[in-house]
Amino acid sequence: MGLKIFLGDRLVDEADAKISVFDHGLLYGDGVFEGIRVYSGKVFLHEDHLQRLYESARAIRLEIPLSLDALRKAVEETVAANSISDGYIRLVVTRGAGSLGLDIRRTANPQVIIIADRISLYPAETYTKGMALVTASTIRNHPAALSPRIKSLNYLNNILARIEGTDAGMVEALMLNHRGEVAECTGDNIFIIKNGVVKTPPPDAGILEGITRNAVMRLAIEAGYEMREFVMTRHDIYTADECFLTGTAAEVVPVVSLDGRPIGDGKPGPVTKDLLERFHALTRA
Ligand code: PMP
Repeated sequence: MGLKIFLGDRLVDEADAKISVFDHGLLYGDGVFEGIRVYSGKVFLHEDHLQRLYESARAIRLEIPLSLDALRKAVEETVAANSISDGYIRLVVTRGAGSLGLDIRRTANPQVIIIADRISLYPAETYTKGMALVTASTIRNHPAALSPRIKSLNYLNNILARIEGTDAGMVEALMLNHRGEVAECTGDNIFIIKNGVVKTPPPDAGILEGITRNAVMRLAIEAGYEMREFVMTRHDIYTADECFLTGTAAEVVPVVSLDGRPIGDGKPGPVTKDLLERFHALTRA
């Protein structure tokens, strides 16, 4: 038995969940999406994700055909229909089918797609031992070309950087911005800890403003750490005491080296472990 997929305005069987080959989401990567976690049957930070989706859509002049309330309900319904207690939701809005050509007026029918499924996680060892990173030569999209703040269906920028990471035997890769500053990883935000201060690049460093990033920033402040948005270079990471990544799928992952340089003592650090535990407490409450 396949999944129940929300498509358009209703749930359909996976086998019937089909969209047109003329959908501009497919033809041009023209659309927006969200990846959301479900913990104990509850959609985690649902409002934050919905807000980011509508903001991404607004930035590309895509009108989401469902109201916020209707979309929220559709997500809940999809989770319930698939009996997902702990899993992952992929919420997609495409520009819809239209004749060939870039003009958005050629399309009329934006498609809402919601998939709720199990999630495949990094092995437990990644969290206990930490991961190694390499810097990709592919820089993050220039904000004046395609703002990284838009979570669009066009992920080639990140995919090209991820290929470099994979070639180097790593599961993630660091991306710099057009100024050579640290931006983020291909699918995760980055944090460092230096002298007890928790630091992460600001949104205008050319990053996707992660929902997990923002949640971890709030946790760090609540826990009494000094938390700063900070423009950083790779030097700051090489010389940091600790480093970790955040993302919906990854949650909080310790990073123990960058470009062959061990970070701190080359093991997950105490502040990272503390924030990871606090994040677990938040999600598994
Ligand atoms: N940066 C990029 C490029 C991403 O694709 C993602 C999400 N996959 C993130 C950061 C993390 O964002 P979030 O915490 O909202 O998942």
